[in-house]
Amino acid sequence: MKAYEAVVIGGGPAGLTAALYLVRSGVRALLVEKLSPGGQVLMTEEIENYPGFPKAVKGYELVDKFVEHLANYEIDRMSDEVRSIAARDGGYVIQIGDESVETKAVVLCTGARYRHVGVPGEDAYLGKGVSYCALCDGNFFRGKTVAVIGGGNSALEESLYLARLVDKLYLIHRRDDFRGCKCYQHKCEVNPRITMLRSTVVEEIRGDLFKGVTGVALKNVKTGEKSELPLDGVFVFIGFEPVASFVPQDLERDKAGFVVTDCEMRTNLPGFFAAGDIRSKNCRQVATAVGDGATAATAAYAYLESLHA
Ligand code: NAP
Repeated sequence: MKAYEAVVIGGGPAGLTAALYLVRSGVRALLVEKLSPGGQVLMTEEIENYPGFPKAVKGYELVDKFVEHLANYEIDRMSDEVRSIAARDGGYVIQIGDESVETKAVVLCTGARYRHVGVPGEDAYLGKGVSYCALCDGNFFRGKTVAVIGGGNSALEESLYLARLVDKLYLIHRRDDFRGCKCYQHKCEVNPRITMLRSTVVEEIRGDLFKGVTGVALKNVKTGEKSELPLDGVFVFIGFEPVASFVPQDLERDKAGFVVTDCEMRTNLPGFFAAGDIRSKNCRQVATAVGDGATAATAAYAYLESLHA
């Protein structure tokens, strides 16, 4: 079985940064990606808020730069699915595809998946009017008409953010009662740019290949009445899920399943660090993922050093 000092799991901005910091510290490290590097950033058409790119940068271009940077250093890489991580002899054994590797430290950077509504058009118009990130994409909809789907704090908060940019916003929720807090709900209700459509579901996101999203097909779940709403964009905020099905049972996670860390990215397990969107935290951005990755690698390095002391 191959042995490493540290294994970074996940090749998004957090994982690529953690890997970069580890190899630069002389740590014998392995980077494991499920498919190709990039993670959720690849889903983002243009990133306007990553410092150093004043004219914005395409998601895939930023990932290419991270990968190019890491290629300056020697690091083993594997592209396969992690199946399990088990504690053994003061370290961990990670099963990756059909292979197992041993390591003293794990840096978990597997991120989160936005929950999808699962209606026709959602995948087809992703990046062409369908978005899961107001902070990233809101600016493209200045002066336009958009819908937000969801009834939790994310949907309410992101609606308030988007309402500062767009001309008109429809907040579409499948029930009458919102799950999110009353204060945000009230702010949405009194906002002149926001119209709440309660007990309403989106049945289809419509558009065409040139214009992208052009509208949605709606259904009132109480009356069964169907209608159409012309739109320029649809933002989906119906929660998200951590990618962590394979982590040890005793790794501390919050109610939603995200991994709890301290500010050094240490988890409750020795030698086990987490960085990026997989962490239990509020701000999920490329900039914060990169910071987490650097912090986790630095803490992992200190941990490895402490083993030799
Ligand atoms: P959430 O609280 O789980 O809410 C998800 C919302 O989406 C719910 O209203 C749910 O409807 C709706 N939904 C789920 N599946 C749907 C579907 N297939 N079609 C249509 N609607 C669907 O998720 P979140 O808003 O992303 O928040 C995640 C966590 O972060 C929560 O704990 C939240 O409180 C927290 N958060 C906190 C803040 C803050 O405190 N400032 C900000 C953002 C998020 P139902 O209500 O009918 O189930």
